Formats: sequence, structure tokens, C-alpha cells
Amino acid sequence: MNILVDRPAEVLLVEDNDNDVFITRKGFEEAELDVNLHHVENGQECMRFLRKEGRYVDVPTPDLILLDLNMPVMDGREVLTEIVRDGRLCELPVVILTTSCGKQDVHDMYKLRCSSYIFKPVDFTQFQRLIQQLTDYWFTVVVLPPEE
Ligand SMILES: [Mg+2]
Repeated sequence: MNILVDRPAEVLLVEDNDNDVFITRKGFEEAELDVNLHHVENGQECMRFLRKEGRYVDVPTPDLILLDLNMPVMDGREVLTEIVRDGRLCELPVVILTTSCGKQDVHDMYKLRCSSYIFKPVDFTQFQRLIQQLTDYWFTVVVLPPEE
């Protein structure tokens, strides 16, 4: 049974590129699932969000994190490293969503046990399809960590 039957899915998008934020938001709006999309623009804000610090005191714990790799201030590599070292955060599913196709990045992120590594499609229709597939998989197939 899906644990999300009676509430929207909470997704945290960690992304510095405005255009990517826009098309991801659009993609979720069109997806056939009730999703609250939260957005932060760098890794440092992501860690504050996850730790509910400062203005993030009332945010929900995300069911899924979509993490860009290349960002200013604190990048996706540093974020995933910190998440896996934090006992309270390490069970959160983290999907890398990036334009980087460097082999080393793929190796490194799986070594840090990312939940999936996805290349961002450039084409909007493909992006749309990806978001639909992603929501189908993560919110109707997968059993997510139960809420405390
Ligand atoms: Mg970026």
C-alpha cells in the first residue's frame, strides 16, 4: 500500500538554474499526482531545509530530493556527502538530476549511495515524460521511509 494515499508527495528540488526550476515545476504541475514542490537554490539552503533551520522551521521532511550537482556555495556532491553522514537524514531518497554526464560524477554519486542518477533532458517534452515516470515510480511503486 502506498503511504502517500492521503496527502500530497513532498519533493525538494535543489537547483540553481532558473530555467530548470521552471520546467521541473511545469513538469510536476502536469504530472498526474498531487505533489508539493519545494525549491532551494544551493546545497547550503538544502541542508538548512532538511535540518529545518531558520525560515525552514515549518517545512515538511521531503519524501524525495531531486539534487543538481553543479551549484554555487555548496554543490550536490557536498550535499550528498553530508546527507549520508547524518543519521537523521541518511535514509532520504536522493535522485541526482543533472546535465553532467561525467563518468566520475556517476561513479562518485553511486558510491555515496544516491538513489538514482538521471541526466536532465534538454527537450521539454522529454523532461515532462521524465517527471511523469519519476513520480509514477517514486510515489506509486516504491515504499518510502515511513514517517516518524
Ligand atoms: Mg546547476
